[in-house]
Amino acid sequence: MSTTAATVARHWIDGQWSDSGEHRDSVNPATGEVIGSYAMADVKEAQAAIEAARRAFADPAWRTDRLLRARVLNRMADRFEERTDDLVELLGRENGKTHDQGRLEVAFAPETLRFNAALALTDTGTNSQVTEGELSMVVRQPVGVAGIIAPWNSPVALGIRSLAPALAAGCTAVMNLPWQTAQTNSLIAELVGDTPGLPSGVANTITGGHVSGDVLVRSPDVPTISFTGSTATGKQIGAAAAANLKRVGLELGGKTPLIIFEDADLAHALPIVVSALIVFSGQFCMTGSRLLVHERIADQVRADLGERLSAVKVGPASDPSSEMGPIIDKPNVERIDKIVEDAIAQGATVIVRGGPVADGPLAAGAFYRPTLLEVHDNSMPIVQDEAFGPVLTMQTFSTEAEAIAMANDSQYGLSASVFSQDVDVPLRVALALESGSVWVNDWARLHDQFEEGGFKGSGLGRMRGFAVLDDFVEFKHVRLRPGTTPAA
Ligand code: NAD
Repeated sequence: MSTTAATVARHWIDGQWSDSGEHRDSVNPATGEVIGSYAMADVKEAQAAIEAARRAFADPAWRTDRLLRARVLNRMADRFEERTDDLVELLGRENGKTHDQGRLEVAFAPETLRFNAALALTDTGTNSQVTEGELSMVVRQPVGVAGIIAPWNSPVALGIRSLAPALAAGCTAVMNLPWQTAQTNSLIAELVGDTPGLPSGVANTITGGHVSGDVLVRSPDVPTISFTGSTATGKQIGAAAAANLKRVGLELGGKTPLIIFEDADLAHALPIVVSALIVFSGQFCMTGSRLLVHERIADQVRADLGERLSAVKVGPASDPSSEMGPIIDKPNVERIDKIVEDAIAQGATVIVRGGPVADGPLAAGAFYRPTLLEVHDNSMPIVQDEAFGPVLTMQTFSTEAEAIAMANDSQYGLSASVFSQDVDVPLRVALALESGSVWVNDWARLHDQFEEGGFKGSGLGRMRGFAVLDDFVEFKHVRLRPGTTPAA
């Protein structure tokens, strides 16, 4: 099977490619050029995929054979590894990621698949002789069809982050991948769907948006939703899913604070601050977007960071010297610039204006240069709301308590970084932050064996780690009463 042979990127339903009525163009955000076309899922395709997954779940072959699931997930991992270059190339052309950043994303997929292959084998419940002659045990059973909804900013890593545990648990799945990355989705569908040993209908992939996503959320045949996307959409999904008392795992937006204490090693910290802003062009849930700096080092940070951000080389993935690619499309460039303009009108001071690239060879693309603004009011929208672009605010603090209070004064709680050479301060601050992940002298380091997710408006439940299976299993308590004396 080959996706490149197909002229239109299609869905993968019930073990085969499937078309749909509406075809649209895929566009390279760095150039505005059409790079292919794709079939867009509507209600019909979503329902067909759910039906295929429902039938596959009814057959015990998949849900009762954990060795098969582990084998298949490991094979899937090999397939993603073997096609890394193709995935990176597609992410560059369709999603704007530089090749280094594409590799960063793609590398997650095999690691996550392998970890979940191992998790499939850890299916041990608990049991106990609760009282003499009476036993209790708990059995974990897959919930059924998992609805997976992933955003366009990292379709490979985030689609697989939900799919792998769903399959490990014994669920079957429908992945609703975003239309913005339809060409990439098609390769994901091929690598997942055509894995030797995977029964037809177990893993279905459609390219769609809110219409097909909503079908998954409302279907009584889909008992669990694993959603990654914005907080606003997460709330809508939670509300809609409540009608069927559906389980929801929500990985939502963030406004990651980067806290730099007076004793931090700036030569180490500032390049990390730059990466935290420019990786995926700031379109990353964990983008470092709020810089909190001790007042005694503020002048030095302002000058040094300003220079570093002004020097970031913006360009297409096809140019190996590019350090940051484009935004996903031009409307998002305008949206981000309006946020910056509003912040300046509300009193933010410009350190680096950055902004849309309007002249020269990059003008046809959706490029936005990194922007750094200094603010003094934590309640400003530029501090409180996700910009989802390379826009960083800088604020100063004088005490540890003030830094913690500023960092926590947010609807979000996804992640945070603390920079200090002290032994106790970063640990104390990490424990006080309302945040699902905290990195000390680092940023965005994720490992499959450790849970990832959000406090407050950044989500519900956890991805990765052992907790990831909770979105996909039911716990069943079985009570046995063999008695203490043999039957006569
Ligand atoms: P979004 O919430 O607008 O949409 C995400 C996907 O949800 C879409 O591709 C669409 O298919 C689907 N969708 C939209 N409305 C829906 C509805 N009402 N019902 C069902 N499905 C619906 O997000 P986006 O703009 O595509 O992605 C960016 C957002 O994702 C940012 O807020 C970012 O922080 C967040 N994100 C979070 C994580 C995380 O792990 N916490 C990771 C990446 C991105």
